[in-house]
Amino acid sequence: MKIEKNVICTFCGCLCDDITLTIENNNITKVEKACANGRGLFEGYDPQFRAPRVNGKEVAFPEAIKEASNILSSARYPLIYGLSSTSVEAQRISVQLAETIGASIDSTSSVCHGPTGLAMQSVGEPTCTLGEIKNRADLLVFWGCNPLVSHSRHFARYSAMPKGRFISEGRKDRKVVVVDVRRSETAKSADIFIQIRQGYDYEVLLAIKALLKGKVLSATEVGGVPTELLQQFVHTMKSCRYGVIFFGMGLTMTKGRDLNVREVFSLVRELNNYTRFSAMPMRGHGNVTGADQVMSWLCGYPFAINFSKGYPRYGPGEFTAVDLLSGREADALLVIASDPVAHFPAEAVRHIENIPSIVIDPVESLTAKIATVYFPTAMYGVDCEGTAYRMDSVPLRLKAPLERQRKSDEEVLEAIFEGVKEC
Ligand code: SF4
Repeated sequence: MKIEKNVICTFCGCLCDDITLTIENNNITKVEKACANGRGLFEGYDPQFRAPRVNGKEVAFPEAIKEASNILSSARYPLIYGLSSTSVEAQRISVQLAETIGASIDSTSSVCHGPTGLAMQSVGEPTCTLGEIKNRADLLVFWGCNPLVSHSRHFARYSAMPKGRFISEGRKDRKVVVVDVRRSETAKSADIFIQIRQGYDYEVLLAIKALLKGKVLSATEVGGVPTELLQQFVHTMKSCRYGVIFFGMGLTMTKGRDLNVREVFSLVRELNNYTRFSAMPMRGHGNVTGADQVMSWLCGYPFAINFSKGYPRYGPGEFTAVDLLSGREADALLVIASDPVAHFPAEAVRHIENIPSIVIDPVESLTAKIATVYFPTAMYGVDCEGTAYRMDSVPLRLKAPLERQRKSDEEVLEAIFEGVKEC
């Protein structure tokens, strides 16, 4: 029996790095400190070797690589998708592969915080680290997100609860405000809950900015929120020592999308005339932040990139996976650690069923079940090392507490890359 301490959980963007695992016969038998989602990630994982499959039949690794390389090199308009639950090292080689075969490459960002990327590019991102928040923030605003359910340990480790250098009393020294369309679990534990009408985030943000600049609103309410309450909220933000707005898909995937986020960023910029303020997206998948970072370094854009002309072109709405599949444009698909069949619209899923696909994933997802070629790989942070970016863009090195019996995502991608070059 072996006890492995300070393991990083890669289920969500919190990347909690204090997990303790008990390991017997190369299996995880006990998980301590993780939330239910994190426990599920470790407890449900079986590291045993499994052979790759071609058309449902188990084959040797070189044969599977040959088939995958043929599919990609003979495709006219291939698409590479996923990337947010794998290591930075695998993401990097995926971009190299996309460039070589002239593919489109897109991550799950395009269906969650893609609009945040667009807003960052238009007005910049006023951000900070989770360490700064823990040590300094006395006002936390959660807008359109429900971390008590989606990022269960965020409150306890990084935001509301922990005692910090300048926050000696932890939760008692902090004010928590939730802005949402419904009274979520997080809203129930907040000091102030501002309930807005669905689809009115943009209007409410504009009204807050106007009030911050000292304008008088003639309306008695905006987006279902009384103007008086908005005025109090502005006063709370202006008078804090260090405030943060965390925002989720309630803001990025509703009416307004990137315009909503742009208003959050510009509100934060204005607030910095009065006090110290930051904003941070609540990133979902363990290394979706890494996917944005790697693609931005290598191509200049965070997602929805196309290499068909030999250089990176950016096209959210054009080169995004849902659009390429729903429009039946992609004629081959490589999926890395993601499950579009489970999450994409029916039209896109129908097209996936009709084109050759390659799936690289430690878990046999619905997409893997129907793939032409499936590579069961090691899981990053469990039986394979690697690097992942936390939601605040801090890179962390992942340990491999289990002994590895399968190829890593990176190794499979490298072999496909070599195979494609030979083809
Ligand atoms: Fe894992 Fe996220 Fe839970 Fe932390 S909050 S243990 S990273 S699922």
